[in-house]
Formats: sequence, structure tokens, C-alpha cells
Amino acid sequence: MSVTYWCERAWLPGGVAESVLVEVEGGRIAAIGHGEPGAAQRLAGLTVPGLANAHSHAFHRALRGATQTGAGDFWTWRTQMYEVAARLDPDTYLDLARAVYAEMALAGVTTVGEFHYLHHAPGGRPYQDPNVMGHALIQAARDAGLRVALLDTCYLTGGIGTPLSGAQERFGDGDAERWAARAEDLAAAYEGQPDVEIGAAIHSVRAVPPEQMATVAEFSHRHAAPLHAHVSEQRAENAACAERYAATPVEVLHEHGALGPRSTAVHATHLTDVDVELLGHSRTYVCMCPTTERDLADGIGPARALADRGARITLGSDSHAVIDLFEEARAVELDERLASERRGHWRAADLLAAATCDGQASLGFPDAGELVPGAWADLVSVRLDSVRTAGAGDLEAVVFAATAADVHSVVSGGRRVVAEGRHVLGDVGSMLAEAIGRVR
Ligand SMILES: [Zn+2]
Repeated sequence: MSVTYWCERAWLPGGVAESVLVEVEGGRIAAIGHGEPGAAQRLAGLTVPGLANAHSHAFHRALRGATQTGAGDFWTWRTQMYEVAARLDPDTYLDLARAVYAEMALAGVTTVGEFHYLHHAPGGRPYQDPNVMGHALIQAARDAGLRVALLDTCYLTGGIGTPLSGAQERFGDGDAERWAARAEDLAAAYEGQPDVEIGAAIHSVRAVPPEQMATVAEFSHRHAAPLHAHVSEQRAENAACAERYAATPVEVLHEHGALGPRSTAVHATHLTDVDVELLGHSRTYVCMCPTTERDLADGIGPARALADRGARITLGSDSHAVIDLFEEARAVELDERLASERRGHWRAADLLAAATCDGQASLGFPDAGELVPGAWADLVSVRLDSVRTAGAGDLEAVVFAATAADVHSVVSGGRRVVAEGRHVLGDVGSMLAEAIGRVR
């Protein structure tokens, strides 16, 4: 069955065009043309491709509001995060993740990269199905209308040279071989299902000893799947890494085959010039998470320098202090202004590419994030007549002024999941409040 949408304006590969007809068939864009709306479904404002949230930990959403007050840093926040991790089970995580992904859909996200490490029951005991938590996350994404890259995360140590303890025990598989066996089972369960990509993640140099990294990288190469890793979010991580390995986290990942065109370095905040060269030359994606990085007082990463050396920038809402990819996109430019005391580092179109096609590709969906025939039919329509966007122009209005609340319609993989600002699942605010109430 085919459906035709008429976009008042649409961001096509050549720029913004008016009166664009998009024919959708079987979840994909069948044709793009120009003309009168006729009987087509009308999409007001500016329609852009589906946004990719390239770095998510769904359960961190339960901490919104709990960590924004008082003093502390990344490490004090982490203690609170572990308390929520300790309470989740497959049922409560399904409900929480479904609500969080529905919040993402309302914000125009059509693909989420879920960096998933909460694998096992309390104490580290595997569930009867050792992948039940991963299945819950995938089900949640499907219920909310998102594609998902489930980045199954290897997490073996509590810090460099220290064993897992407390809630961390739920994250660990023992060693990379046992991690790979579980991840292989998960990949086999979703083989041939185009809306799910099973990728891999090395949690960080804190959590995976270097001699275990190659096994995780091999999974990525064997499946042509994404490989993500947290990198240099904190100076303390760099200091511990230098002390133990006489190298930076980027250098350790490079030496063990974990950088490359399928890989994503998340955060990449505190880098040396050599790190920037290694990430750029290897064509590694770098996922900036500016709203989380500011919330946790992490610092500002060198996004422009990375892109200049060849790294491709993507965006993630990570801890979900805010879920708004427009805010993440403009923060890349605005934070760079604060750090450099100069303006004009990025064009709006480049920032939107980070939020769409580059992010989608980094999650294993290179066939999404552009309004072109053959691509996934993701149409995200943003109001240009709200109090935030009225009179502000097209792309610049979206990137520098719109918020997630300006997204009024979302078609994801051909399915209309948001219409007139409402998600098909109903009242997402109530879903969130109920799910969070059960785990906090
Ligand atoms: Zn993260």
C-alpha cells in the first residue's frame, strides 16, 4: 500500500524545497516530486529526515530532576544512577524504555542507539534467557515506533584493575568470550529483521581490559555492525589510563583495533592532538552529547577539530537530562563559541546532517536520514509558526530556535507514530511518570 505526503517545505539533499510530494511504499520512500497537495496527507512547516539519537541509556531518564540539584560531578551522579540500575527488572525496564522511546519519537527521533549494559539479574546472575533485558529494549523501541541499534555492551571491571561491585555486577559477563557468546545469540535472534541492528560496545577503558577489546571489535567486523565506546569523558579516566597503560584511552582503543569507519567514540571530551588525529584518520564517528556533558560538568569536546581531521560528528542525548536533538545540534556550535570566543564554526545544514544521516549511518542504518527514493520513509515535520520558530527562516529556525515541542508529525519507517504532536501510544507524560515511579 502506498501513501503520499505533501510537505509544505522539505529539506532535500540539494537544500530546502517547497511543495514536495513524498510517495511512501512498504516503509521506504518510493518517489519524490513537486506539485500540488491534491489528496496527499499534508505536512505543514519544514519536513526533515528522521533524527538519530546515537547514544542512549534508556533507564537514565529516571534520574531527570534528581541530579540537577546540589553539588557533585560525574562520579556522584553515577552513584545515583547505580541505585536505579539496581531496581530494574525486565518488566519495569520494558515499561520505562517504551515511555522514553515514545518521548524520543515525539522529538523526531526515528532510530535510537541504545548503549545497553544492564544485562543480568542482581548479583550478576543471568536471567533464564540471558538476553531478556535486550529483548525488552528492542520490544520497547518497536512499540514506540523506532528502529533500534542495540549496542550490546561488554563491561567487565569496575575500574582499571578493580572488580565489579554492587549494581555493577549486573553489567558483567565475566570475560569478552562469554560476552561474545551472549551477543551472538542476540544477533541470531534478529537476523534478517531490518528495523533492528545488533551492534557492540566497549563500555570504556575503565570497564574493559585492553587484552579483551579485540574480541569485541571482531564481533563488529564479523557482523559489519557498529562498535561504540565511551572515550575520555572525564579527566580522571585519562589519568588512570595513563598511569596503568602509559597511553590515552583513544590510543588504547586504536592499538586494539577498536577505531575505524564502523566505530563511534562517545563524548571524546578531553583529547590530545594525537587523539584527534587518530580518530580523524581512522574515520571514526564521534558522538557528542552536549546536554549531558554540561549537566555532568564533563567539559567541551573539540568537535570542529575532529571534523576537520576526518571524524564524522553524531549526536546523542545519553543520560536524557533533555531529549531534544535540536538542542544537541546547536550546542555543538554554541559550546564551541564559548570555548573559542568566536562564532561560525558550523553551518546549520552540517549540524542537521549530524542529527540525521551521519547519526543514522553510525548506528548501522546508512539507508536512513535522507529524503531520497529508496531510503527509509522517515518524515519529521517541524512547525515554522510557533512562538519559537515564527519568522526565523527555514533550516536556521529548526537548528537554532526549534525545540522538540515544535515537532508535530513523525512518520517512522512509513508508519505515522506522531500526529498533531501526539504519540499513537497516548499520553507519554503519564507513561513516563508511572514507569519512573516504579523504579525510583
Ligand atoms: Zn553514555
